[in-house]
Amino acid sequence: MKSIAGKVCVVTGSTSGIGLGIVRVLAEHGCALTINGFHDSKDVVDKTIQELKSIGAKDVIYSPADLSQESGVKELVDQTVAHFGRIDVLINNAGIQHVAPVAEFPVEKWNAILALNLSACFHGIRYVLPHMRQHQFGRIINIASAHGLVASTGKAAYVAAKHGVLGLTKVVGLETAKEPITCNAICPGWVKTPLVEKQIESRMEAEHISLEQATLELLGEKQPSHQFVTPEQIGSLCAFLISDAAEQMTGSSYSIDGGWVSQ
Ligand code: NAD
Repeated sequence: MKSIAGKVCVVTGSTSGIGLGIVRVLAEHGCALTINGFHDSKDVVDKTIQELKSIGAKDVIYSPADLSQESGVKELVDQTVAHFGRIDVLINNAGIQHVAPVAEFPVEKWNAILALNLSACFHGIRYVLPHMRQHQFGRIINIASAHGLVASTGKAAYVAAKHGVLGLTKVVGLETAKEPITCNAICPGWVKTPLVEKQIESRMEAEHISLEQATLELLGEKQPSHQFVTPEQIGSLCAFLISDAAEQMTGSSYSIDGGWVSQ
């Protein structure tokens, strides 16, 4: 995929999990990257930047912006444009989860999930579009979820936000359809990241079962392959959606879920 080398890509929430897998794949393709997210220490970020450069990234910068605030999203976009002069690709990946029945769902958790998982995508898109239009190229990829297509109990805020992300993706795909810009969503099933490890631990504690048993139950309930999707597999799908081959793919969502939503 020669067409993606050198593209300036902003990947939100890329200090961990799926986002980190995506930036590793994009680095291997020779992209220039803005990474973002929280971290335990500056050393970890410095090591990630070194690693990404060593595997092929053209250049890498880090933004510590808190994307649950509109001002944080603007800061991320402004920092990238100030450094690279343009933004070719925005991957809205940062996301959080909280599990509780709807009648007991803490209002502050609802607000936090909606702010990051949905509103940050809206703000990111509205801030990057003028830059993409100016440079006549753009790829927007929203990391939604199988929970953008179907629901599960206990996840009112997450499911509402991810369904919203798919609606937003369709609107942006239509509004940019005549331009050299696309907007798509990816709907992963279970991926073994800190976000899911917390859910496995809760299951272990609630049911007094082993880590292995809790993992098998989690996969067995939803994901027919009984295997986790890997962050790098999602990164490869992103690379394809950025490439020229995907020029006519827009306004759609693509499942990568071991068969989850076929049931
Ligand atoms: P993760 O917890 O491993 O990573 C989340 C990333 O977002 C981290 O880099 C974190 O620092 C960053 N982040 C959190 N709050 C932030 C904020 N306010 N501002 C900026 N960055 C912030 O989670 P993950 O599993 O890699 O999830 C990434 C995305 O994939 C999320 O949108 C999630 O909903 C989605 N997803 C995950 C799974 C899964 O099984 N893990 C499945 C489907 C979809």
